[in-house]
Amino acid sequence: MYRPIGAEKLGFYVKYVSTRGQAPVLDFDEVLLAGLARDGGLYVPAQWPVFTPDQIRALRGLPYDRLATKVMAPFVAGCLTEAELGAMVADAYAGFTHPAVAPLKQIGPNQWVCELFHGPTLAFKDYALQLVGRLFDHVLKKKGQRVLIVGATSGDTGSAAIEACRDREAVDIVILHPKGRTSEVQRRQMTTIQSANVRNLAVEGTFDDCQDVVKALFNDLEFRDRYNLSAVNSINWARVMAQVAYYFAAAVSLGAPDVEVSFSVPTGNFGNVFAGYVARKMGLPIGRLVVGSNTNDILTRFFESGRMEADGVVPTLSPSMDIQVSSNFERLVFDYLGREGEAVGALMGEFRKTGVMAMPQGAHKAMCELFEGHRFDDEATLEVMRAIRARTGEVLDPHSAIGAGAGLKARVKADNPMVALATAHPAKFPDAVERATGQRPPLPPHLADLFERPERYDVIANDLDAIRSYVSAFVEGRR
Ligand SMILES: *Cc1c(COP(=O)(O)O)cnc(C)c1O
Repeated sequence: MYRPIGAEKLGFYVKYVSTRGQAPVLDFDEVLLAGLARDGGLYVPAQWPVFTPDQIRALRGLPYDRLATKVMAPFVAGCLTEAELGAMVADAYAGFTHPAVAPLKQIGPNQWVCELFHGPTLAFKDYALQLVGRLFDHVLKKKGQRVLIVGATSGDTGSAAIEACRDREAVDIVILHPKGRTSEVQRRQMTTIQSANVRNLAVEGTFDDCQDVVKALFNDLEFRDRYNLSAVNSINWARVMAQVAYYFAAAVSLGAPDVEVSFSVPTGNFGNVFAGYVARKMGLPIGRLVVGSNTNDILTRFFESGRMEADGVVPTLSPSMDIQVSSNFERLVFDYLGREGEAVGALMGEFRKTGVMAMPQGAHKAMCELFEGHRFDDEATLEVMRAIRARTGEVLDPHSAIGAGAGLKARVKADNPMVALATAHPAKFPDAVERATGQRPPLPPHLADLFERPERYDVIANDLDAIRSYVSAFVEGRR
């Protein structure tokens, strides 16, 4: 079934299939709203659109929004015109505080950092969510529908989702966070948004309690259908799609397609680095994709052994990578198992049942020709932050440092530029940065008064019925 299509003019029209092969084939607008496929799989393009070297060369020098529009257009063709997409993309990135949107900084001979923290909430999730919020609004208005987005957050995702959905006409959003367990910057980034379509709930419980409530609301089919419940979590295809753009932007700046470029990526759910894989499938010459993990190193262990083995989660200095399993990894498994949905379903079923899965040897070997993993515990992370700061002046947050550190350890050809993706602004994690460098990084100007802004949130018991009633009352009042 896998057959890359040619890049003839307007020849692209991507349909979406589930990695488990048992769910209906969908168009882009349906995939955008669907989230998880009905067979439990994840949606992926039925074919990868491929750019010719000339088409990639033509991206050089374009402003970020123009380049991103060209890269994404094949994935939305048939649902959005390039002009409609381009207008949303331009609007999504207009508020970013660096004119290059995703600027490159050099930290060594042929070593670069791509700063993905110039969005409104200072984490790379803004690059996807700012666009996804606009896509939701556009598609829903066309369909005459509204959605209610409910999510749980331990920090970064909630603020990026709220920023993306605030004041969108067709969207209401409720985000649950564990009371007193997020950092003050993270809480204030959520609770200082005063838009009428946003509610923050501080739940008297843990992050897992919040997640359990959200899952229960999704499993309450009556509630789910009545309010058209939706999510913008990291398995949403549109988020992956938007992230492909900065791989192209960085690589063409460094000479692609005439130069092969490698990337190192601090990884949790595998959404960011999977976007790099997609870029490569689309014809971008990527040498290696290097995964950086913290002590929660399920992926690094997988690349070493070919076995995926779930373990407990321990808290680290890079909390956005404190994951037990990487949900987007199934998309990679699908490709490396020859796009056989049944084989993917069997393997994922085994993993869910036993907590272990073994990749067929040939597939694991093929993956390792492109991917490798490196792990950094907290001490090693602080050491990378210290060393890069001392040698280059670049201040990295703990997540970004793991990416950069993994890039420095990677087995790449010396003439391959290595780009480390910096996924959060250092001011989001001031305590760790101060520990490593002795200096407390200031918030950028647009957030400098964050601690003076009024907050709005409601404290609520960890009680499903109470939370369901609260959410119902909020949505009823909005419709
Ligand atoms: C979400 C996040 C990550 C992990 O990205 P994945 O796409 O889940 O692999 C890394 N760094 C930061 C700062 C994040 O917020």
